[in-house]
Amino acid sequence: MSAPASCSLTCNKEIRRFKVAINTACPLRCEYCFIDKDSGETISRSHVENLVRFQLSSPGKVKKLLLYGGEPFLNFDIVRETALYARAEALKAGKDLDLSICTSAGLPLKREWLEFLAEQRFFLSVSMDGDAETHDAHRRMKGGRGSHAGMLPNLKTIFDTIGKRRSMAIQCVHPDNVEKMLDNYKTLVGYGFENIEIEVIHGFGWKRTKHLFRPMLAKVFDWIWEEAHQGRFRFVVCSLVPLMLKEGVTLEDWCPFHSSMETYPDGNFSFYPFAFVDWDGRKKSKVGSASEGVPERYRSCTFDLASDQCKTCTSTYYSNPQVNEGNDPYRWRTEMARAFMDRVALASRTDPVMKEYLKEALIRCRIS
Ligand code: SF4
Repeated sequence: MSAPASCSLTCNKEIRRFKVAINTACPLRCEYCFIDKDSGETISRSHVENLVRFQLSSPGKVKKLLLYGGEPFLNFDIVRETALYARAEALKAGKDLDLSICTSAGLPLKREWLEFLAEQRFFLSVSMDGDAETHDAHRRMKGGRGSHAGMLPNLKTIFDTIGKRRSMAIQCVHPDNVEKMLDNYKTLVGYGFENIEIEVIHGFGWKRTKHLFRPMLAKVFDWIWEEAHQGRFRFVVCSLVPLMLKEGVTLEDWCPFHSSMETYPDGNFSFYPFAFVDWDGRKKSKVGSASEGVPERYRSCTFDLASDQCKTCTSTYYSNPQVNEGNDPYRWRTEMARAFMDRVALASRTDPVMKEYLKEALIRCRIS
């Protein structure tokens, strides 16, 4: 089914990253995920076609389509069809498309699935918080059992097929485990990950341990620096963003179309993290859909940070006050990651090790 002729399924603003929640089902019941895992929703083929065309119609040569759920591997046929369709359309549109998938790796991942993803040059993210104690405190299977042990056998297959350069762990830092940030980062490196995103859990009381966030993250970056000088390169994924975007960093920070768009399985677009939104929030956060396009107010605006329209763009947009806790650590994380890469770039002028590190970071930056 294609969009009605009156609707706007083209976009005049750059959409670099577009997240698509292809389904809602998941074998896990993570404490900080509010998706209704029993609703049985999956995205339709027509929504996939429309949203892919919507993204590809937008300016900018490099596009990234990120497949999320739920657990997308539970509906691997949709993953396969989406990947093949998006690749074919990107070729026609002359766009350079990156594909990415995020998994809890809580169910056994079949080698043939991963081989298909490798053939399609996917990036793959595994949500893994660190050691078993940290991870299982918040990420449990539906029956209550921790999910950590079941993930470990999948990691070897992931590294064998997708490769270490294109794989990453998403280390969720919770106010309860912020003190173990470096230990958990090292644990994930011990499992074989070289790219690790430090993600901040929103919506849980940060007041008691917020003061620890910056010193702990500084320790992670110090350790990465030391490791590099031992010939072992490790990365915090968001530190790679400025290498990928350069002047586009401003757009990423300001225009919600650039990196914050998502589609729910029902085809509705949003600027808001799907996983944090309940049913009521889903209605309020809607900004168009894969069948209607975006509302009038977003059809012709163009980015200009000096304009009031852009400065206040999301000031009245839906936000869930429950998840605002965590905004400060999230901002610190991004600022510190960018400062780290500035430090690397400066050192690379005189330090041959950091010159090599920067070279490798440039190869990997499209994972961000
Ligand atoms: S008003 Fe400006 S910031 Fe908002 S969507 Fe339009 S161009 Fe982007």
